[in-house]
Amino acid sequence: MSTLDTLQTSSASLGAPLRIQSIEAIPVIAPFSRLYPDGDVPGWLLQPAASHRTLQRKGQYSTLIRIRTEDGLEGVGECYGLPAPKVTAQVVRDIIEPLLIGEDANAIDRLWSRVFTSMSGGGQVRGYYLEAMSGVDIALWDLKGKAYGVPVHSLLGGPHRDRVAVYASPIPMLETPAESATYALGFVEQGFDAIKLKLGRGRRVDLAHAAAVREAIGDERQLLVDLNCAYTADVAVGVVAGLVDLGITWIEEPCAVDDVAGYRRIRDSAPVSLVNGETLFTRWDQRDFLVQGAVDVVMPNLARAGGITESRKLAALCETFHVDIAPHGVGSAVGLAAALHLSAAIPNFRIYEYNRLPNPLRDELTVEPFDFAASTLAVPTGPGLGIELDWDRVDQFRAE
Ligand SMILES: [Mg+2]
Repeated sequence: MSTLDTLQTSSASLGAPLRIQSIEAIPVIAPFSRLYPDGDVPGWLLQPAASHRTLQRKGQYSTLIRIRTEDGLEGVGECYGLPAPKVTAQVVRDIIEPLLIGEDANAIDRLWSRVFTSMSGGGQVRGYYLEAMSGVDIALWDLKGKAYGVPVHSLLGGPHRDRVAVYASPIPMLETPAESATYALGFVEQGFDAIKLKLGRGRRVDLAHAAAVREAIGDERQLLVDLNCAYTADVAVGVVAGLVDLGITWIEEPCAVDDVAGYRRIRDSAPVSLVNGETLFTRWDQRDFLVQGAVDVVMPNLARAGGITESRKLAALCETFHVDIAPHGVGSAVGLAAALHLSAAIPNFRIYEYNRLPNPLRDELTVEPFDFAASTLAVPTGPGLGIELDWDRVDQFRAE
């Protein structure tokens, strides 16, 4: 059998439509209380970052997407689920699925525009709508890769790299600097050479924790700091001034998500890279930060920011401003796989956030584990996203 024959028997014919038959939205929840049978979830897990002061983080949440075609092909995706995955699922069911039934899944960019423009005139250009769109988009890329027998990073024109540099995240908001230092050393023992610390508790406390972690991990390893929008810009300037002396690699989200002038003021005040992106969505959200020279690295979460389609365009826009991409890492195994493929397929990739908070949705839903070694993750090489989900295991986390 020739190579061409093999291709034609194992994959869809080029150009043949892949008609969408159904889109299933599956909200999943892994409560932290399951990990602590006595019900005593520690405070640092309920409030791992400054952004969880009023709304506690009670577990891991996602909405998985399963698209099927009339020919029996299937693709999986993930919508960011925090803190209400059933909301995202309902958006998919009520609005997005009816827009896509019967459409050709090959035309991913056209379908993205169809879904986006159907609601953008109504103001739905961020939030739950974009999160719902993201999971569907990721599933379409998985489906297309499986249809043609190639990995998503290959469809995107890659790979630039076979393994992706990652950092451990987070050192949560622990009580004492000594606890933060011990937590950091745990990541060092696991083989990480870059580690992110959550701060945002006032200058004195922040500097004490950062100094303890820096001393514990030494000067050779990268220390990244995430302030999760905790400060106004004037206060952040003072905190950042102290952190810079500790050799911090980057400062993430120092002030409010939309404070372009504040970011610029902080960036001008200190020789440090400024990072944003996980709380923004599309290219249009990021445009002013780029034009104003207010940011150095951008962190889209692929399960929030419009999926692979939009994050790839955001990466290209950032490249024109010499700004790097470092995908955000909160979510399930599906979003993780999507981020690895995009990271492999863009020239301006910096580093990926390998989140290490307890998360069975990330670590236990795939048949094969992700390949971590020496502060890198291998990019999956199988068709589509290159992962296989254990659906019996998924069923154990269904929220409805
Ligand atoms: Mg962050």
